[in-house]
Amino acid sequence: MANDPVTLVILGASGDLTKRLLLPGLGTLLQHQPQRRVRLVGAANEQLSESDWRARVTNALGEGGCPDDRAERLASTATYRRTDLLDPDDLRGLIEGLPEGPAVLYFALPPAVTAKACDVLAGLDLPEGLRFGLEKPFGHDLASARRLNRRLLSFLDEDQIFRVDHFLGKGAVLNLLGFRFANRLFEPVWNQANIESVDIVFDETLALEGRAGYYDKAGALADMIQSHLLLVCALVAMEDPASIEATEFRDLVSHVLSAMSVRDGDAVASSRRARYTRGAVQGQDVPNYVDEPGVDADRHTETLAEVTVTIDNARWAGVPFRLRSGKALGAPRRQIVVTFRPVAHLPGGLSPRPKPNRLVIDMNPERVTLEISTNGEGDVFGLEQTLLSAEIGASAVRPYGEILAHIMDGDPLLSVRGDMAEKCWKVVSPVVDAWRKNKVPLEEYPAGSSGPDGWPA
Ligand code: NDP
Repeated sequence: MANDPVTLVILGASGDLTKRLLLPGLGTLLQHQPQRRVRLVGAANEQLSESDWRARVTNALGEGGCPDDRAERLASTATYRRTDLLDPDDLRGLIEGLPEGPAVLYFALPPAVTAKACDVLAGLDLPEGLRFGLEKPFGHDLASARRLNRRLLSFLDEDQIFRVDHFLGKGAVLNLLGFRFANRLFEPVWNQANIESVDIVFDETLALEGRAGYYDKAGALADMIQSHLLLVCALVAMEDPASIEATEFRDLVSHVLSAMSVRDGDAVASSRRARYTRGAVQGQDVPNYVDEPGVDADRHTETLAEVTVTIDNARWAGVPFRLRSGKALGAPRRQIVVTFRPVAHLPGGLSPRPKPNRLVIDMNPERVTLEISTNGEGDVFGLEQTLLSAEIGASAVRPYGEILAHIMDGDPLLSVRGDMAEKCWKVVSPVVDAWRKNKVPLEEYPAGSSGPDGWPA
């Protein structure tokens, strides 16, 4: 980690991401790396006084655990500039006002605004080595992701571009590497000969929470599956790297994404979508999604999506990977579930037929549970299921702290390379297309339920 101060320019400083995740994440980083020097510049449409911005920064860093004196010191040098990021003069003023030294432009903006702001930036004189941190979703479909990549590469080098997916900063996701590759017990059986199916589920109890402006144009497929869950799937399925270093790691993630596609090439049979209706989540009333302010019912935005993919290689041929994520569900569930095939032969005299071994990795809080069959209590020839379970200590630095640290250090290990972003879109493109043509019904589920009737639990 270099000790030069890095200027972190947050474009979209008044938004939800900045307040809830980005600044608190930075707070955890500064708590654990007190020597790190950061200058903050905020920019957004909102007319915000410098003192209001500094108060927001202090609170949000503190929320992440940054000690008060550190948060106040950083906030005292933080600046805010009201900027229309689509206006070339405003953007030029922002760039020209940056202090000397390494700087990161962090795009905490709706994807369409990011794309347009990049068009404007392409025509400006930028400081040498300026890095771009670009939030997901990267584009809104394959064509727009390709366009954005081409546009960025017309005035930046790939090593200046950090496409962010904060799931790559999650301890539970990064732990997959240690779990898979450091355990003799698992790596030899991590293949289609031994594994029957994999489920990657991210069910949230949160409903729209006032984010219609972004979410109603994205939906669960683009918001969660196309980015986060496909990358988690890639880490579950990738080949083993010689070492965890940016080039090889991202080559291998890209390699497995190339082999991924919707099951049997049939997007209609391999996907489901649904939207929540009025209900209650954990005792709180939730309105019908289409009655939420800012929602346009005609967009047919899904709040729950499920896509099953397979991976066309010798390790995974035929194994379904079911990816599911949704909002306003009755209980949070953030799990990777690996279901193993039954034993080739069960000795006669042992009964009942055992349930399959399952490995359940809970992402939040982090817990690993292995479901195995053992001889039953009181009957040595009877089988019962036993759970071996351990909680994994949470990472000290939150995912956004981890991601920001890598961007500020210029290390692309945890960022999504251009080809990876395009490949994620390529996997879901047939689904986007089938849904756009209404070939998959938009089902409904009451907020607070586990999803529409008939969907797998
Ligand atoms: P918000 O709508 O809450 O915030 C958007 C920000 O963009 C606001 O600060 C807004 O400023 C600013 N903005 C929009 N247009 C302009 C413009 N022309 N000029 C200047 N500022 C502009 O969105 P989120 O923070 O929720 O999301 C931002 C990005 O982060 C999205 O890509 C999303 O996918 C990603 N993300 C969000 C997460 C979250 O939990 N919120 C989680 C993970 C990723 P103003 O209001 O002043 O106009």
